[in-house]
Amino acid sequence: MGKDLLELKKVSKFYYQKNTVATGFSKVDLKLNLGEFVVITGESGSGKSTLLNVLSGLDSYEEGEMYINGEETSGYTETDFENYRKKYIGNVFQSFNLVNSYTVYQNIELVLLINGFKKSEIKEKIIDVIKKVDLLKYKNTKVSKLSGGQKQRVAIARALVKDTPILIADEPTGNLDSKSASDIMNLLYEVSKGKLMILVTHNYEQVEQYATRKLTMHDGKIVEDKFLNDSKPTETVSSFAVSRPMKNTSKLRLGIRNTFNILPKFLLLLFVYIVLTLAALGGYSALKKQSYEKSKNGYNYYFLETNPKRIVIKKNDKSPFSNTDYENIRKISNVDYILEDDLLADTRFIGVSNNYAIPLSLDTLDSQPDHVDIGRMPQNEHEAILTTRDNYPSIDTIQNSILEKDFDLRSSSFSSFAYLLEYKIKIVGVTFRSSNDSSTIQNAKLYLSNDILKDLRKSLNPLRSEITIHFNGHILDSNDGIYQVVPSRTVPRGTAYAFEDFNYMAKNNNCKNKNMTIKISNLYFDDELTVKITKTFNKRNIKSVTGTDNYEIFRQAFFVNWDDYYGLFDRPSYQSSVFVKNEQEVDNTINDLNNLGFKTLYVKDALLSTNGDFDVIVNAVMMIVVLIVIVALFFLSYFIIKIILKSRNVYFSTIRILGATRKNAKQLLKIELLTVLHIAFLLVIIFCACILNNIVNIDFIYNLIVFIKFYDYIILYIALIIISLLISIRYARQLFKDSAMNTYREEV
Ligand code: ADP
Ligand code: MG
Repeated sequence: MGKDLLELKKVSKFYYQKNTVATGFSKVDLKLNLGEFVVITGESGSGKSTLLNVLSGLDSYEEGEMYINGEETSGYTETDFENYRKKYIGNVFQSFNLVNSYTVYQNIELVLLINGFKKSEIKEKIIDVIKKVDLLKYKNTKVSKLSGGQKQRVAIARALVKDTPILIADEPTGNLDSKSASDIMNLLYEVSKGKLMILVTHNYEQVEQYATRKLTMHDGKIVEDKFLNDSKPTETVSSFAVSRPMKNTSKLRLGIRNTFNILPKFLLLLFVYIVLTLAALGGYSALKKQSYEKSKNGYNYYFLETNPKRIVIKKNDKSPFSNTDYENIRKISNVDYILEDDLLADTRFIGVSNNYAIPLSLDTLDSQPDHVDIGRMPQNEHEAILTTRDNYPSIDTIQNSILEKDFDLRSSSFSSFAYLLEYKIKIVGVTFRSSNDSSTIQNAKLYLSNDILKDLRKSLNPLRSEITIHFNGHILDSNDGIYQVVPSRTVPRGTAYAFEDFNYMAKNNNCKNKNMTIKISNLYFDDELTVKITKTFNKRNIKSVTGTDNYEIFRQAFFVNWDDYYGLFDRPSYQSSVFVKNEQEVDNTINDLNNLGFKTLYVKDALLSTNGDFDVIVNAVMMIVVLIVIVALFFLSYFIIKIILKSRNVYFSTIRILGATRKNAKQLLKIELLTVLHIAFLLVIIFCACILNNIVNIDFIYNLIVFIKFYDYIILYIALIIISLLISIRYARQLFKDSAMNTYREEV
């Protein structure tokens, strides 16, 4: 059996509508080959167009078998049909299906670009084919300005330029006067030599002289199939039109051409995008402005020291700070001093002497004033000076109860009354803080060396940690104040003394010589220690076993070795604070710190408004409103853009009829939208720049956009890109859910 170029075996095509099934054509048997000039006639509605569309691969069929060059097509995917169309088919339609906003040249170029040719290699070919249809004069004329006959010539040129073996023309002269009609038929005959030409016409007499075969359709069936004249011998084809994937440069070129070639559409889209960009920018900057106004004065639950010179830092990798880290930070020129244990700045202390207690804040020696107003400067580690403000404590109190007195340090932020240092600090001098001192702390402030602050950190860490005891499947939580782990100098290392009732948690009611594990964990680190219980105590023997006699406090305590216990907590600092010299340059300092690998929190930025809860609610409502506005804006612009793009439906179905894949069409659409977006964004940026540089003077806009930083523009830019992509994806899904032909039909 010789291979036919096209063969249909009992092929049927139905149209399914709501409740009815319409027949396009049914049980058609047909063999078609090169050299044939097949003319199909029949009354309107007999199925001619449907048959052509199926043969063109523009529409699917429901029953029977269709062979292309001997290959069965029931397994063909959409892509296979796209390739078939690219390689085999040139279409000419009654309604031309040209891109009206393109020139003659561009219309013909379009089909070649879609078929993967490079712009540079096709010029001659296009000119040749334009000459062939006799339109050279109109090469650069927009198709919308041509007459019907001329338009059909362009369509024929476009069908020819790909050099496909099959030409399919559906009533190509249906819209033409009789003179142009006979010219077009003649042209079709000329260009179809050696190819398979399939032509539908109402006017058979007009083509009688060319036809080699006549098919008549009636009611979806072929009722006559007559071979005429000298039907040339059939031959099989082995080489077809070249088809490659569309070049990216061609996509870009077409996308950009499409952006601008319908000016009203471009301006409308541009307008929508500019409004979208301005609205997003406006909402965004209004929010930023509002939050800035609030940050100017405020408080924060976590930060007692809200000094605008303070930057809290952590390491990016969450590791503790090393001395090298601190050295590097000190090299930054705007850095005044570092408080290595940052949490100290936010902890309230009490200094307690024999007969006086004073609320205190702690700071590092590095920030200590260089003179005292009363008393003297310290001479060793354990001597310190105080700074005070607002005449508190009074000079009398200072002289009688503070100067040259020894003080213990306690924490007042934690419920525990533990002494924090094993030694006393002697206060030897007092400086009155000036009103331009930038510290926001009201308390008296005590300045201690970094070594002492380190000791303090070690003893504060247990207060900031969760401590649990794990034993025989039990987990005891020491933070609820019932169970305690108590460091003791009398307990040997690696061991623990437990309260007697603890026996009940052990197997055989005996905990002695069994191991228990103390686990600690806090924001920054975890650790654990396993110790052996060697002794138990009760009310009677607590003094002799542990050395303390306060049974009421320690009745449920575990005593462990002092060094074992503090060994768990003896860590370098994980969070420090940098204080800058010049507050105005804090942004640069933050940048420098980030570049060194530190995470920063500028305390001033983290402040809450002093108006309290009400403001938190207002803020949340504002955020929600802005969010709703943005979402509404998105849908609004989506619908507007969709309406604008509706005029593009014909374009996109046309390029699909010419062989563009769904994906190509989507990409072209994306390029078009993104191009408009970029222009809109650029215009808005230029506008903002003009306002910021006082080239244009609009105060209220100026006051809004000064708050927008470079990275805000980037965020906005990315958001707009995402919106554009979402719109093009949604639009493309709607546009392309149907076959190319259906979309086209609905539009024309
Ligand atoms: P012709 O081109 O010979 O005038 P068509 O091929 O357009 O005829 O139509 C053949 C039959 O299929 C007609 O009965 C027509 O109503 C039906 N038909 C064509 N296109 C559709 C469609 N998209 N949906 C439903 N029915 C259709
Ligand atoms: Mg028709």
